[in-house]
Amino acid sequence: EYVLQMKPVQDTLDNEGMYHGHSMLAPFTSGSQQMETEPLIIAKGEGVYVWDRNGKKYLDALAGLWCASMGFSEKRLMNAAWNQMTQLPFYHSFWNRTSQPPLDLAKELIDIFKPVKMGKVFFCNTGSEANDTQVKLAWYYNNALGREKKKKIISRHSSYHGSTMSAASLSGLTPLHTGFDLPASYVLHTDCAHYWRYHLPNESEEDYSSRLADNLEKLILKEGPDTIAAFIAEPLMGAGGVIPPPATYWDKIQPILKKYDVLLIADEVICAFGRLGTMFACEKYNIKPDLLTIAKQLSSGYMPISAVLLGQHIFDVLAKQSNRLGTFGHGFTYGGHPVACAVALETLRIYKETDILAHVNEVAAIFQTEMRKFASSSIIGEVRGEGLVLGIEFVSNKETKESFPVDWGVGEYFSGQCTALGMLVRFAGNNIMYSPPLIITTDEIKEIVRMSAAALKATEIYVLELQVN
Ligand code: PMP
Repeated sequence: EYVLQMKPVQDTLDNEGMYHGHSMLAPFTSGSQQMETEPLIIAKGEGVYVWDRNGKKYLDALAGLWCASMGFSEKRLMNAAWNQMTQLPFYHSFWNRTSQPPLDLAKELIDIFKPVKMGKVFFCNTGSEANDTQVKLAWYYNNALGREKKKKIISRHSSYHGSTMSAASLSGLTPLHTGFDLPASYVLHTDCAHYWRYHLPNESEEDYSSRLADNLEKLILKEGPDTIAAFIAEPLMGAGGVIPPPATYWDKIQPILKKYDVLLIADEVICAFGRLGTMFACEKYNIKPDLLTIAKQLSSGYMPISAVLLGQHIFDVLAKQSNRLGTFGHGFTYGGHPVACAVALETLRIYKETDILAHVNEVAAIFQTEMRKFASSSIIGEVRGEGLVLGIEFVSNKETKESFPVDWGVGEYFSGQCTALGMLVRFAGNNIMYSPPLIITTDEIKEIVRMSAAALKATEIYVLELQVN
């Protein structure tokens, strides 16, 4: 039986029972929440469930932050961390010194990534750091080739690539820019590839993809191909609302990039390691990236670790030019941390030994089928996804796809209902996102469906009341 050894909530309240905030500046949390609302404090995890410090149980349908693929109690990962801790708890990888785990992990990652021959792996700690590294690599590569002007990076509206300077600039979501003097001037944004929301009347998915590829080409030509270094994209968009690419999108985008010698950076921070039912999204959509970003499920989220994989052809250029450019002056104290790498290696072993892809495909079929039935609701415009990632978008008008006013907080209301019922999902405006641990069972999927149905019913009533008034 679960017993909490923690401060009772009352300790954080004053004599009148008021909460006055905590000492932490909380990420992606509104000002009023920072100041007035007691956070949900998670104290324990087991399987796909977590418990708050009051003992309330939740099915975590977002796997933490799209990362805890093995749920919250995988002993093999704890043991891997412990064993490495006892042998060598830290070492760096600067100046040609390193430890064994990052070397083993780099080799394994190059082996399992099949779409193109990757040459090297550069370790970071977060997806953001890895994407900042991608920008620096694209510049370094072009400097090595003597193409000093080829520096701009094209990203997409609604994308999420992280919140460091470059990664936030690349991201196509305004809250990441407002108040921070971003995006940086070297970043350009092109279309968000969301067929349902943006296609023209009578435009097929294929035609829509052609139009977006045309727009990309026009942008490259307008700016000058000799100024465009790279295009970065999530193969399936995650935090922007779970948006799978429309049919033929990647087939049409990639030749444009090739034509103008623009590097393709695939950001698989959410997709990689089975989320879509394939080891990498690049396999699913036939994407051949020059550079790849991975993180999150690389260690099941148990340790902070991310990586950049560089195509062999990219590394060849860097290697040839290394005398001219001197030392590769980039790196992080904790990049290639032996404990994080040991946990990641064990995570990859578990994926292989348990045939996680077969499991994901089995449960995902039920997940996608059952959840898509909610599309018949009068307040839902689209239910979309792939494998074990899914998004729901609320609309006030199914015909025109008009969104509910943001201040109605429809997504937030639905999410709040889920929390009350005992399930954690993510909301952003009128969007709801699910990304449960990959180990989820059929019965647990059915729980998600049941709680979602109840939350939806309550949200329909909430909306009706607002519409009447
Ligand atoms: N890229 C993508 C596609 C992501 O989803 C995220 C995080 N959700 C990041 C980059 C940034 O990762 P991190 O929060 O580890 O910096």
